[in-house]
Amino acid sequence: MSDIRHKFSRRGLLTGAAGVAAAASLPHGLIAPASAKAPMLGASRPTHYRFKLGDFEVTTLYDGALAIPKVHPIFGKNQKIEDVQAYLTANNLPTDKMTISFTPVIVNTGKDLVMFDSGYGEERRAKGAGQAAAALASAGFTPDQIDVIVITHAHPDHVSGLMENGKAVYPNARYVVGDVEYNFWSPKSLLDSSNKNMVRRAQAVHNNLVPLAEKATFIKPGADVVTGITSVQAFGHTPGHMCFHIESAGKRFLIFADTTNHYVASLAKPDWHCAFDMDAEAAVKTRKKILDMIASDKIPSAGYHMPFPAVGYVDKMGSGYRWVPASYQLDL
Ligand SMILES: [Zn+2]
Repeated sequence: MSDIRHKFSRRGLLTGAAGVAAAASLPHGLIAPASAKAPMLGASRPTHYRFKLGDFEVTTLYDGALAIPKVHPIFGKNQKIEDVQAYLTANNLPTDKMTISFTPVIVNTGKDLVMFDSGYGEERRAKGAGQAAAALASAGFTPDQIDVIVITHAHPDHVSGLMENGKAVYPNARYVVGDVEYNFWSPKSLLDSSNKNMVRRAQAVHNNLVPLAEKATFIKPGADVVTGITSVQAFGHTPGHMCFHIESAGKRFLIFADTTNHYVASLAKPDWHCAFDMDAEAAVKTRKKILDMIASDKIPSAGYHMPFPAVGYVDKMGSGYRWVPASYQLDL
């Protein structure tokens, strides 16, 4: 043991001595850069991710993320807190906080540029979300190029990025929204609810979606948005929440939006209630149905709250599922 230590320290001394000798032999002007320290740049991450799907291109955009200072009872509301915390710990996740991120998706069909959901906009920009329009620019698009905006459901993190300072962010877009969803959120009476959370959500719809209604088409599950993009019923998270099936040249993809909101817990334990789900039991049924379809058919998918780039596969695991982030499969 002491021999090893001796060798290491001797090697260190030799390297140090050699370094000093080398520096001393350099012309004076070359020594200065070696002592300059690179500045700290802060954490950094990519803000878009693009791959080919048949003849289409799919781009996911990082709208940002919010830090939430608890996990239970948001996830596993119908479970004991100890059980939820033990499961999180076993999966290397903190028990007292989590990060929830937001990922709009853009599909370029070659004919239409279709954007799914719009991010948080100004409403949560100071807290780290609402960056979708900036990510759009770094992904190579301009807001006026967006032809269609599809709203999977009308929660604030999906609709608040549609308007900025009272103006439409995407000036040439038409909008596609589920009729069940719009009919639920659009009555003004929701603004008088005694439930503060409901009022905040309804206000986001009234500020950002209702003003655009005259440019909107209201659809049912099973409807074609444009050729190759079809809505899929996924009610539960909200009354009219929908997924979207994309298909081009035999390649399939599913935008599952908020069918599952936690990339570990909501997949492994689809029965665990989630406080974000407005009808928890309907959401459980939908979660199982959609996850089973994605896993059985091996369809790559995007989930709005999966870790960025929020694209992956779903595998069956025991009585639940697991999220498998996509890697080179999408480059083949
Ligand atoms: Zn959401």
